[in-house]
Amino acid sequence: MITTARGLGFMTRSIHYGYCPREAGGALNPPVCLSSTFAFDSLEQGQARFAGDQDGFIYARVGNPTNRLLEERLANLEGGEAGLVFSSGMGAITSAMWSLVSPGDEIVADQTLYGCTFAFLNHGLKKFGVRVTHLDLTDQQSLAQHRWDRTKLVFFESPANPNMRIIDIGGVAHIAHGHGAQVVVDNTYCSPYLQRPLDFGADLVVHSVTKYLGGHGDLMAGAIIGEHELLAGIRMYGLKDMTGAVLSAQDAYLVLRGLKTLALRMERHCGNAQAIAELLASHPAVEAVAYPGLPSFGQYDLAKRQMLRPGGLLAFELKGGLEAARCFMDSLNLIRRAVSFGDAETLVQHPASMTHSFYSKEERAGHLISEGLIRISAGLEDFEDLKSDIVQALEKIGPVMSFSVHL
Ligand code: PLP
Repeated sequence: MITTARGLGFMTRSIHYGYCPREAGGALNPPVCLSSTFAFDSLEQGQARFAGDQDGFIYARVGNPTNRLLEERLANLEGGEAGLVFSSGMGAITSAMWSLVSPGDEIVADQTLYGCTFAFLNHGLKKFGVRVTHLDLTDQQSLAQHRWDRTKLVFFESPANPNMRIIDIGGVAHIAHGHGAQVVVDNTYCSPYLQRPLDFGADLVVHSVTKYLGGHGDLMAGAIIGEHELLAGIRMYGLKDMTGAVLSAQDAYLVLRGLKTLALRMERHCGNAQAIAELLASHPAVEAVAYPGLPSFGQYDLAKRQMLRPGGLLAFELKGGLEAARCFMDSLNLIRRAVSFGDAETLVQHPASMTHSFYSKEERAGHLISEGLIRISAGLEDFEDLKSDIVQALEKIGPVMSFSVHL
């Protein structure tokens, strides 16, 4: 079994780590364990497993061999001690939060978060006496001046979904740790191929595995990576008792399959996103493009320091605002109007009416999500075909907005 990270490249580990065919009669692919419960040799053995004195499986809500392999592989790729998988990204985020905060504690979160994470913090946890404070985490001075007496966690995405703001993970971790707070980074945008927040000092990484890690738009899954002890607590409380958001073994298998091509896919997603961003930035109908790979992007240098490549997502605004956005999106033929990202298909969505509609209009304005913003998840298709589709849709805007947008 390959259990050491040393000397092996990312792609090799994403294919082999933690599994040896000899363990399963030579099967090249790991078997899918379809058992909800596990038999004990004796009462004594069952007692030892429940007490945590003996390693081994008990009941699939707290672990099974297929999920364990995925957990070990994800932990290895993120550079963490341990991993824990869930039935969705929200299952991972909620299980972590229920485990780590208590009434009276404060969570400091960035201004821009995925809509359901924002809803869970502000419409969910707040009901139970947890204080949630949103700060602009790109501004480390205001973070340093924050009153930290009750702060338990700092939570953010980098780049943030959907406006691509980038947060200096090491800088935030340094300040938070100085005040005894833990740092949780949602690394869904990047996947461990592009960015490993634990290397910069984060305490936990969460993922919507539904996106790049699964990679094919055919499953829902989530994950947390971090220290053994922290994750054991989240497994035995957040997952076991609070959410029960257990990943099915079949879906764990599909993620293991997806991981084998993660590096290849990420390279292609990034290449297509860069080309789309450049195309849009040079088009007269486009007001602004947010993509970390454009030199005009405000945090271009930070992105280069923190990420291997600038990612597969980009956001932009058209000169005609919301009306032009509607015309553009409805005119696309090849690119699919759908939320989610990280799939083989290029997807386009309008955050204000879709993923970030859980914010009120005022909240969106305060959280830097403009009403005309369009988000594209670059897929794996041939760029020339994507370009034709985008250009013909942009050309449709001219007559609607009464200005010429021809290249
Ligand atoms: N985090 C981010 C950045 C997301 O974009 C999403 C979903 O879009 C989630 C978490 C939630 O993940 P899931 O949809 O797998 O529950």
